[in-house]
This record gives sequence, structure tokens and C-alpha cells, in this order.
Amino acid sequence: MRLRFAPSPTGFLHIGNARTAIINYLLARKYRADFILRIEDTDMERSSRQSEESILRDLRWLGIDWSEGPDVGGTFGPYRQSERFDIYRRYSEQLLLEGKAYHCFCTQEELEQMRKKAAETGSYEYSGRCRNLSDDEKKRFLDEGRKPTIRFRVPDGETVVIEDAIKGRVVFSSENIGGDFIIVRSDGVPVYNYIVIIDDALMNITHVVRGEDHLSNTPKQILIARALSLPVPKYAHLALVMGNDRKKLSKRHGITSVDMYRKEGYLPEALLNYLAMLGWSAEGEKEILAIDEIIAQIELEKLAKSAAVFDFQKLRWMNGHYIRTKSLEELLPLMLPFLAEAGINTNSIEKRTLLRAIEILRPYCELIGDIKNLAGMLLLDVPEYDEEAQTLLRSDEAALLVKETFAFFNQEPQNEITQLVNVLKVRTGLKGKNLFHPLRALLTGRLKGPELDQVMEILGFEGCRKRAEYVYHRFVEPQTH
Ligand code: GLU
Repeated sequence: MRLRFAPSPTGFLHIGNARTAIINYLLARKYRADFILRIEDTDMERSSRQSEESILRDLRWLGIDWSEGPDVGGTFGPYRQSERFDIYRRYSEQLLLEGKAYHCFCTQEELEQMRKKAAETGSYEYSGRCRNLSDDEKKRFLDEGRKPTIRFRVPDGETVVIEDAIKGRVVFSSENIGGDFIIVRSDGVPVYNYIVIIDDALMNITHVVRGEDHLSNTPKQILIARALSLPVPKYAHLALVMGNDRKKLSKRHGITSVDMYRKEGYLPEALLNYLAMLGWSAEGEKEILAIDEIIAQIELEKLAKSAAVFDFQKLRWMNGHYIRTKSLEELLPLMLPFLAEAGINTNSIEKRTLLRAIEILRPYCELIGDIKNLAGMLLLDVPEYDEEAQTLLRSDEAALLVKETFAFFNQEPQNEITQLVNVLKVRTGLKGKNLFHPLRALLTGRLKGPELDQVMEILGFEGCRKRAEYVYHRFVEPQTH
């Protein structure tokens, strides 16, 4: 069994395509099949090496690897379509010679007119005007300086039946595929529907698993294969991924490129788990599955025929789960850039303290990047005081508590930090949330967050003292003068 993923490098890896890659990869592992990466870069204007590199990087980040591809080579290469033009040329010459394809001299303008005219009456189909040109006519066009395209002569009345592993039996008639279609453009560049099937055949691909947007292209590809006596792979067309409004997933719905997910602090394990499970459910409706469990359970036939709705919330939730199950040692390097963004100088903090802070804060993280807004509570000299905390700390009710906290830290002989709450209870007469709310606001800058014991454990006496001093001078003292 040989499977492939064949992205066009015209931008970042879209999550819909990532899902196709993941499913191919998991099936390849399940069936111990070869997995091939082929770059379909014949759209010269839109393709770029940069995009190719980012796609490879994102696939690897997701944990996907391949046994043949443009970067690792293989016996069926080259694996970039732009490097295979002489192969495609040999096949188009064969088709021309056998009369299964012909040169078409219609100009863009002429085709545009035919299209317009057709729009008035119904659907457009190429008229076949150049199907049977005489040598004289061809010569006259060439003399005029026209550059021909090559069109495939679609056989009349032929039926194409696809036994799709997901969609079931799909029947097409050659009468309904829009007439003779272009296989090589006038600039000599061959088109997707023509070369994809050549490559699938030459690379011995046995199963093509791809998005259902390609289902309507499949009869064209099969007709080409028949004309060239090439083998046809088995097909499975995956239902598209939709937004919650049942429209094709796009930027309007949320982030759609794997690159952005990585940058926002999603974990590859979560994205892989989520995308792999889109459109089917595992035994017992289990949602969090290790990759080996997914491999054991995944089957093309289980995948839904109809669109899978992408649930951003659920992906976040799943990501939070993976954050909680990763080791602190693994999380630290992932979080470092976000800690730096939060203005924390991690070099000056002991690793033990960093790991403990992450342990305390990670229940509040759905994304790795969430640490950025949380870490200051434990790791900055002075955290940010949010609006609510400021209002509370400026209020009359809190003034006594702030003063007494300040005093606690400036007494001689020095108090033990563990006495703080008890001393405050006695000196202020406050208890319960009347005590803990302003104390939390003072120590963390917020009204919600981790247990105060844990906060004090990380801050220590000196850390708490700095915050008490800052809050006293900023919110209370100015008002007492
Ligand atoms: N290059 C095509 C795409 O990115 C691949 C189609 C296929 O898998 O046949 O949509």
C-alpha cells in the first residue's frame, strides 16, 4: 500500500489540508504503507519555495514524517512536479500522436466570449472548435502567432464509476465534465488534473485520500489514466471541514493555518488528536486518544460522509488537557518565549522556581501562550494590577488591610510569612472573603488565581514584602496625606 499527501505550496498549511495529511499518515502507519510527500507546484505564480518549506516544517511539527519526498528523496522522484516536466511532455506527445489530445488555438478572448454566450443559455462547455483542424488551419493560426494549448479529447458517452471508500459509489458521465479540457497551457505548463494521475500512477500510489473538493476532478483524472493505460488508484474523499455556520472553514471563523496554531501556543499532540478525530468517533465516545489508539481505531469507512464542523472551543479544551499531562520539564522551554514576552527575566530565576510556578499556573492555561498573562502574578517583582484589583485596593474597606500587611513586613524582629493571615485576622478583625479578596489583590494584582498559599510559597517573604510596599505607597498612602 502506498499513500501520499500532495500539497500545493501556495501559502501556509491550512488545517483542512493538515487533516488530510494526518489521516493519510495515520492510515499509512496503521497498514504499514509507504507515505509519500509530493509537492504540486505547477501554479508558478502562486507557488513558492518559502511556502513549501513552511509546509514541511508544520507537518514535521505535527509529528508527521514521510519515507519519500522532495527533502528525503526516494526511488520514484523527483517529488516536485516542477521538476517532472519532461515526464509530462512525453505523455502529452503520446496523447497527441494517438489523437487523444489536440492543439487548441482559441484565444483567451474567444473563450471568454463563448463563455459569456453560454451563460445566457445555460452551462458552458468547450465547443470543440479546434477538435478537427486541418493542417492548413493550424499553420494559419501558428503564422498569426497564436500559441496553442493542448486539450484532452473527452471520449463521448463514457461512464466513470468511482467506488469511493467514504462517499460510496459515485457515477459520472463523460458528457457532463465540461467538454474537452486543457491539459497543457499555452505557456507549456501542464495542469493539475492531467499530471496528478500520471504522478499517482508512476509513484505507484494505491490509495488517494484527499478533500472532497477534488471529487469532481476525479473523472477527468480517470479518463486521462484510461487514455494512457495507466493504473487508477482507489479513492477516498474526505468531507470538508466547516465552520459552525456550515460554510467552508475560512479566516472568518478563526485561525486556519497550522503555523498560527503553533505560534499561539497550541501543542502538536492536541492539534493532531483533534484533527484526526474530526468527523468520526472512537469507541466509547472517547475524545482524547494517544496516537497509537487512534491508529488502532481509524478506518476510512468510519469517516463521516458529510461535513465535519470545526469546534474551536473543543480544540482549546483538548489543548488544555495536553498541557496538564505534559511534564514540567517539557513545558518550560515551550513557555520560555512567552515568559520573556511578559517581561520576566527567566535567567535570574531559579529553574526550580520556574517549574513550580508553571505547575501552579498550568491549570489555568488552555494554550501555552496563556502563561504570558498569568506568570507575572508569580514571577514579576511587581505584577500588573488590573482594574478590579485597583478599585478594591483603593477602597476604604481595604485600606486597613493594606496598612497592616505593609506593617507586618516591616516589623522588627521579622515575622514569619506563615503567620501573615493570622496576624492580619487579629489586627484588622477581618475574616473570610473580606480578608482574602484584598489580600489576593495585593499579592497578585487580581481577584482570581491560584491558592494564596501557593502564591506566598513562590514569592517568599521578600517577594510579598515588595508587593505590600508597592501597594501601600501606590494605593493607600497618597490618600492618607
Ligand atoms: N495539490 C492538490 C491540493 O493541494 C492535491 C490534490 C490531490 O490530493 O490530488 O489540493
